Amino acid sequence: MSRGDIATPLRELVGKQSNVQVLLGKVTNTYPERKQIVFNGKAYSYDHLVLATGSGSTFFDRDEWRTFAPPMKILEDAKEIRRRLLMAMEQAEQAPDPEARQFLQTAVIVGAGPSGCEMAGAVSELMRWALNNAFKQLDPKKTRIVLVNPGDRVLRAMSEML
Ligand SMILES: Cc1cc2nc3c(=O)[nH]c(=O)nc-3n(C[C@H](O)[C@H](O)[C@H](O)COP(=O)(O)OP(=O)(O)OC[C@H]3O[C@@H](n4cnc5c(N)ncnc54)[C@H](O)[C@@H]3O)c2cc1C
Repeated sequence: MSRGDIATPLRELVGKQSNVQVLLGKVTNTYPERKQIVFNGKAYSYDHLVLATGSGSTFFDRDEWRTFAPPMKILEDAKEIRRRLLMAMEQAEQAPDPEARQFLQTAVIVGAGPSGCEMAGAVSELMRWALNNAFKQLDPKKTRIVLVNPGDRVLRAMSEML
């Protein structure tokens, strides 16, 4: 999917609202007692403050996993994951050893919640179907996707029927 189909710029979303101004930058400090925030090195006063800074990816206290599994919160993360998958396939195309090729065609996804399951489907679409005729040596259908999850089923936050 193109980037424009995934995220709409905030500026565009609220563009028609005359009482909303969008400023790009980072809030580095807040002073609730003074009702101030520090933004792009300048202090701003406020009447009411809403902090909606989102969340980061958790690696379950295993920060060493970051090297192997990039987070997936922003478009740049998605681009990096896609790049790694495509590079693995490029390497697999040139790997003469079938075992090495199978290794490069194997993706492991840790966590079978909504994001993990969706990711497994997206990886399958990319590695098995989207590039079906693009490679001559490797067989995209031999792509193996391993979804790792504790417990007896995927999507444990949802009802079993779903
Ligand atoms: C891969 C993926 C797929 C998803 N799919 C779905 C889906 O299909 N359906 C669904 O309902 N939800 C989905 N979600 C979840 C959904 O995207 C989030 O729940 C939602 O975006 C959270 O909104 P938010 O406004 O709280 O935070 P965010 O959208 O993360 O926004 C927080 C903003 O604050 C900014 N910010 C952070 N720190 C600062 C700072 N110091 N100064 C200034 N700005 C700052 C960040 O840059 C960001 O722009 C998905 C999430 C991911 C990662």
